[in-house]
Amino acid sequence: MSDALFDLAGRTALVTGATSGIGLALARGLAEAGASVVVNGRDGARVASTVAALCGDGFTSHGAVFDVTVRDEIERDVRRIEAEFGPIDVLINNAGIQRRGPLLDVDLAVWDEVIRTNLTGVFLVGQAVARGMVARRRGKIVNIASLASELARATIGPYVAAKGAVKQLTRAMCVEWAGANVQVNAIGPGYFATPLNTALQDDPSFNTWLTARTPAGRWGKPEELVGTAVFLASPASDFVNGQVIYVDGGLLASM
Ligand code: NDP
Repeated sequence: MSDALFDLAGRTALVTGATSGIGLALARGLAEAGASVVVNGRDGARVASTVAALCGDGFTSHGAVFDVTVRDEIERDVRRIEAEFGPIDVLINNAGIQRRGPLLDVDLAVWDEVIRTNLTGVFLVGQAVARGMVARRRGKIVNIASLASELARATIGPYVAAKGAVKQLTRAMCVEWAGANVQVNAIGPGYFATPLNTALQDDPSFNTWLTARTPAGRWGKPEELVGTAVFLASPASDFVNGQVIYVDGGLLASM
């Protein structure tokens, strides 16, 4: 087997929500595999410090401050990135939020915020970037799904609805763009300790439940998602399309 299968040298990767948690780990991992990484988030200072940290470690990185729910900002920045740094070869649709509460109490603004960020954002950024990929007949899109793409859990109804739809949107993108040599897959992370789920990390009963429920017996570390992301971003996955790969310590396989 050749290392070239997993080599991202010369590729430009845009990672949404790359200033924290999983996106930050994936940005660094793709950079270590050779990619130039465009770091996205809504907070300009956090984007700038993430880019500075990556560049300080010898990687090539640039920032793109936009909100994945705002079409004009996305279109403007995708055009700018491609004009300044070259075509986007890899898109990681990672930005996401969580809002907890019983479904009976969820108001429409919260529902809309979660669906717009976690689902509509994947569509909007995916569409803007895929236009160029389809025209160039080359591209890799990796959507970050979730265990919630398969299973529900009380108090996260809007999130479960959005992530279930991300799985199907991944398939919809695949069937429309595969013929143009664009591969669209998803990663479904299990439980990874990040700022998104501090409420769960701080809850001893949740920790007891999770370590018993997960065959690996622990939380995942964000860097443990890098191998799958590099695989899905690289030539090694050129005939893999429309799939969700769960990286969950075996949770979904267990009763
Ligand atoms: P974090 O809260 O640590 O990071 C979220 C990132 O998304 C931040 O960089 C944030 O930056 C950015 N972001 C949020 N909203 C927007 C927006 N509208 N536009 C642009 N950027 C935005 O979360 P995680 O790293 O835990 O989660 C990353 C992804 O992984 C999400 O899609 C999440 O659903 C998914 N996931 C996480 C799991 C886990 O266990 N942690 C499990 C399964 C899936 P800023 O707010 O500054 O814009």
